[in-house]
Amino acid sequence: MKAITIKEILDSCNGNFIGAEENLNTKVTSIVTDSRQAKENSMFVAIKGEKVDGHKFVPMTYSQGAVCALVEEKVDCDIPQIVVESTLQAVKDIAEYYRSLFTIPFIGVTGSVGKTSTKEMLASVLKEKFKVHKTQGNFNNELGVPLTLFAMEEDTEVAIIEMGISDFGEMTRLSKIVKPNICVITNIGCCHLENLGDRAGVLKAKTEMFKNMQKDGKIFLCGDDDKLSTVKEYNGIAPTFYGLNDTNKYYGEIIENNSENGIKCNLHFDGKSIPVTVPAIGNHMVANAMASVAIGKYLGMTDKEIVRGIESYSTIGGRNNVIKTDKYTVIDDCYNANPTSTKASIDTIANFSNPRKVCILGDMKELGKDEIALHKEVGAKAEECKIDVLITVGDLAKEMQSQLKNTKGYHFDNNESLIKELPNILKTNDAILIKASHSMHFEEIVKAITE
Ligand code: ATP
Ligand code: MG
Repeated sequence: MKAITIKEILDSCNGNFIGAEENLNTKVTSIVTDSRQAKENSMFVAIKGEKVDGHKFVPMTYSQGAVCALVEEKVDCDIPQIVVESTLQAVKDIAEYYRSLFTIPFIGVTGSVGKTSTKEMLASVLKEKFKVHKTQGNFNNELGVPLTLFAMEEDTEVAIIEMGISDFGEMTRLSKIVKPNICVITNIGCCHLENLGDRAGVLKAKTEMFKNMQKDGKIFLCGDDDKLSTVKEYNGIAPTFYGLNDTNKYYGEIIENNSENGIKCNLHFDGKSIPVTVPAIGNHMVANAMASVAIGKYLGMTDKEIVRGIESYSTIGGRNNVIKTDKYTVIDDCYNANPTSTKASIDTIANFSNPRKVCILGDMKELGKDEIALHKEVGAKAEECKIDVLITVGDLAKEMQSQLKNTKGYHFDNNESLIKELPNILKTNDAILIKASHSMHFEEIVKAITE
């Protein structure tokens, strides 16, 4: 973090200061919400959680070297304190101020699926020319975004910030902090429909990002998405489209994708066709790569740098991660699931050269009133893609089974009974896709098959 004084922090969040006047000039070099991470010159932010109240850790952080605590009520401790009504709100206000200290490009990445994958691909490309700061893991919400910003070093040249939402208004608040120079939207899927209603609602909620974009900002949208492709302009800024369709300004042409050794494709833009191998599975990764081509070019990178960046991409755990065991090829995609990403993963496994393709799918949560129909669609997709075996867990996933004709189906009530029966279902050389919502704990199944 670039050092800022307690005075700057106090002014940015309108708090009440408790402590000696001279402490206001003390420099803060990290802002943390996890007391274990507090060290010399940290400011510790006390958050009242459902289970624990962070205020009780204030004295401990003081002994670790913290120089200030952001609190909702005064704590009995000698540490200088800034008292505010809501520490969560104050963190956002401070992050907005901290962001204003930088004049580098900030790239906001959102979309229903593919945010993390696109962010990682972008980072892989942009690091060939710039010192990149990016969201760690999935820290993409109203607390994660501020913490991501605070972790940014003074010499950062480009910041890539993943922004995730589940309701209207949230993106407005997130983008007020980030004030992106570049906005990226990966797609508009069926996520958080319990709040957003339908895909038109999702589009509306995601594009709230534009409201807080810099005046000379740039918008990059995946034009393969039927909703995003309808976006004409925002305040005179016309979007640049990328994706797999040749109607996009930047498009990827898939040449060969029948193995787990990466996808051979050509990058098309500015009348050029540049061969590259995307070291990932799933055609959607080529679309994600095209976002980084488009943004890399916008930021003045050479074609060579961009190709080098794409080819050095490495996959992230739990997301389309291919694990080879002596018996099986496992696609560990257990991190999360919704209809869009599940269908994409079924397409991916359908391309594998293994003699049999097996999908182990669980409930996809938070889909609102259409949840049953959306699960049925996934079942139909498995049938359409000629998946050999579809194994399901959970009451919603059970609905997929009703769509099967040639695909063989098995259903289990829980992971444990499925794991017990697996040896009787799987055959040597099977390709196996494992995917469900996070709360289904499908990492247990990945573990059982790979260990
Ligand atoms: P979260 O909301 O959990 O943060 P996310 O938007 O960051 O999710 P990822 O973690 O990148 O999404 O990917 C989730 C799943 O979607 C993975 O299975 C991944 O392979 C798949 N995926 C990635 N990019 C795309 C895409 N452009 N289109 C469809 N599926 C995608
Ligand atoms: Mg993510």
